[in-house]
Amino acid sequence: MENITENAKTIPVSAEYDVVVIGGGIAGVAAAVAAARNGASACLIEKEFGLGGLATLGNVIIYLPLCDGRGNQVIKGLAEELLKLSIRDGYDRIPDCWLPGCDIEARTKKRYQVDFNPMSFMLELEDFLGDNHVKLYYDTRFCDVVKESGLIKAVIVENKNGRSAIACGSVVDASGDADVCFRAGEETVSWSANVCAGWFYYFDGATIQLEAFTKWYDPHGRLPPDSGRGFTGDDADDVTGFVLETRKLFKQRLIALKQKNSAVRPLFMPSIPTFRMTRRLKGAVELEETDDKRYFEDAVGMTGDWRKSGPVFYIPLRALAAVRTGNLITAGRCISAGSTAWDITRAIPTCAVTGEAAGTAAAALKQENKTAFAKLDIQRLQGRLRERQVIIDKRFTGDNS
Ligand SMILES: Cc1cc2nc3c(=O)[nH]c(=O)nc-3n(C[C@H](O)[C@H](O)[C@H](O)COP(=O)(O)OP(=O)(O)OC[C@H]3O[C@@H](n4cnc5c(N)ncnc54)[C@H](O)[C@@H]3O)c2cc1C
Repeated sequence: MENITENAKTIPVSAEYDVVVIGGGIAGVAAAVAAARNGASACLIEKEFGLGGLATLGNVIIYLPLCDGRGNQVIKGLAEELLKLSIRDGYDRIPDCWLPGCDIEARTKKRYQVDFNPMSFMLELEDFLGDNHVKLYYDTRFCDVVKESGLIKAVIVENKNGRSAIACGSVVDASGDADVCFRAGEETVSWSANVCAGWFYYFDGATIQLEAFTKWYDPHGRLPPDSGRGFTGDDADDVTGFVLETRKLFKQRLIALKQKNSAVRPLFMPSIPTFRMTRRLKGAVELEETDDKRYFEDAVGMTGDWRKSGPVFYIPLRALAAVRTGNLITAGRCISAGSTAWDITRAIPTCAVTGEAAGTAAAALKQENKTAFAKLDIQRLQGRLRERQVIIDKRFTGDNS
């Protein structure tokens, strides 16, 4: 049997929102909160039972920098609010030099980043979402879109109640994997070189320890033959294979630790696949590493480069907005960023920046009575973002602008 035809069936419209956000990672939380704060009714659809995505359920523990490594803060707004929330439990503190009135010169040597405890952060995010009047649906998987005349009228979801439709004014794809873009018929780009890696906590008999593991993938044959292979995140077999291989690695590391200390016991490991890049939108603009200090007229936020000091990127709305679907916008690690720039835009603070931009744009779509993100008044959108402390500062524009 090659194909089967599913019976057509009528399903209920279970709810209706101005803005439906798919995915409760950092980008999705930022998008939903931004939409709600800008006056839209907003819901967030998450298939797991926790908020924060990779940052929390994936056991990531570093909130990468809000600065450019040259002493300038290039990210504020919700991204900074979330950084503060991530350390509300007192696990870490903002570096002294980044506090008001402190030694500015020291900012060139110490980047504005913190370590956090993923479980505390997840608990804070749940309160944060509720406090901002976003309706949360856990255990609910986005399955499909209902699209008419180039616009998404509703998303189809499945949960314990069965299959239903949620009617919407616009959709933010913060799934990390561009699931909505894929279903809506957008052009997408996939990445197949993910390596098995992650963090885990263990008890050594006296204290709690944190350990990282990575199995490098070496497409060029420079590593030993037992190095890993590259995995793609948008293929069912590969996703399962990746999880099993990662768990094997985790077990091997535990056995090695136990051989040195028999008291070692595992405490907490990633509960979702720790893919770095999976599938993303191919937007009207693909942000590139060569866009360092290039100003875009439709800039909706900025980011530095977590890997090195100096680069500053303006993020254009066109790298977020879908091309074939007027009311669909992306946020987080599935925005349109080419090759190596993808490695920059996937960092937690940048996901928060694009989340805030997408959510604010989605609320504006409703308020301005527009049907497509491409038709938004960009200066008005930039004004709304600046009111919320988002940095879009032309002072960083370089020669290549
Ligand atoms: C091993 C590793 C280490 C990293 N280390 C760091 C670090 O130290 N610092 C840093 O800043 N960044 C780090 N990152 C990157 C960063 O954590 C992520 O890229 C970022 O958190 C992604 O956020 P997001 O919201 O875009 O996506 P995600 O965190 O992937 O969130 C997407 C959410 O959508 C949900 N979802 C997906 N599909 C569906 C669907 N169909 N229906 C409903 N829900 C759905 C998922 O369950 C998830 O909760 C690391 C990543 C990895 C893999």
